[in-house]
Amino acid sequence: MKITAIRFAKLEVPLITPFKTAMRTVQNITDLVVIIETDKGILGYGAAPATPVITGDTHGSIAYAIQHVIAPHIIGMDVENLNSICHKIQHAIVGNSSAKAALEIAVYDLWAKRFDAPLYKMLGGGMPELTTDVTISVDNIDKMLTDSNLAIEQGFEILKVKIGTDIEKDIERVHSIYQNVAKRAIIRLDVNQGWTAKQTVYAIQKLENLGVELELIEQPVKSKDIDGLRYISERITTPVMADESAFSPQQVLELIRTGAADIINIKLMKCAGLSQAIKIADLAELHDIPCMIGCMLEGSVSVAAAAHLAAAKASSISLIDLDGPALGQFDPVVGGVNFDLSNIKLSQGAGLGIETINNLQELTWPF
Ligand SMILES: [Mg+2]
Repeated sequence: MKITAIRFAKLEVPLITPFKTAMRTVQNITDLVVIIETDKGILGYGAAPATPVITGDTHGSIAYAIQHVIAPHIIGMDVENLNSICHKIQHAIVGNSSAKAALEIAVYDLWAKRFDAPLYKMLGGGMPELTTDVTISVDNIDKMLTDSNLAIEQGFEILKVKIGTDIEKDIERVHSIYQNVAKRAIIRLDVNQGWTAKQTVYAIQKLENLGVELELIEQPVKSKDIDGLRYISERITTPVMADESAFSPQQVLELIRTGAADIINIKLMKCAGLSQAIKIADLAELHDIPCMIGCMLEGSVSVAAAAHLAAAKASSISLIDLDGPALGQFDPVVGGVNFDLSNIKLSQGAGLGIETINNLQELTWPF
């Protein structure tokens, strides 16, 4: 089954409630869908959101990198040669992690379809069901308490609480939420680079002294501040997870080597695709470092790939943060992975199991 062409579409899904972090506020999930055509008439689906403040990628840059730089290297290749295709994708251009991720997802989809098996089985098999946490956006305390209680009523057992706007207010937020939900839900904190290393140690020690139990604290400091992450890790009991500091397998190796992080958050859009995510999961497992599988604010095409990976790599990926598709008002993907609040169920269809995608707005170059 040979790759003959690549085309693009836009896919927009309005959010149930706006998504707010220390870095941005968003109203819609907007993905660039990558569709690979083959000589057998079978299509491969991939997708990527634009996350300029995280990866530096926009839909325009993703489409350009694929269409004009990477595609010429892989058009005509047989999807059976998965490793060789991924090698070409990874080496055709530096950076552009979301473009590589979207394209690799479509290639893996086709590769598994070629052998008529669900992707997670091709990656080694596992349980086709996952339980995800849910994001509680940063807001005033009352709103965050309301959102936390609603999430627990909906069956979520783990809350990923977004903070990082103001240190004293953040401490108050976390303390209030903990007092309100203690014993009903586990709390993970995501500071999204909003604090300094010293502020983090101050805040977490204060919360620890108040008896607040946190499962982990994610990326409290700026992405480049690896020394800061290590400073924090050495001074608090709560496990520290690297997110924006952990893009590539090489960066993860450095984080592990320097003892800067206790947990690694893998996202396909950061690491440049499934081939690299597998390397990170294996690397972390070798060092007894657990991984989280996370996603950007992205829809059910690309998050399906993350779910298949997590199912197959359960020995390394023990924390699941794939709530993106469930935050949308509807799921435009027919077939594929079913995202029902905290429960994620993988399809037994070939590849990602996607039958069709509704609401696709086909794009013609230039766009
Ligand atoms: Mg994060």
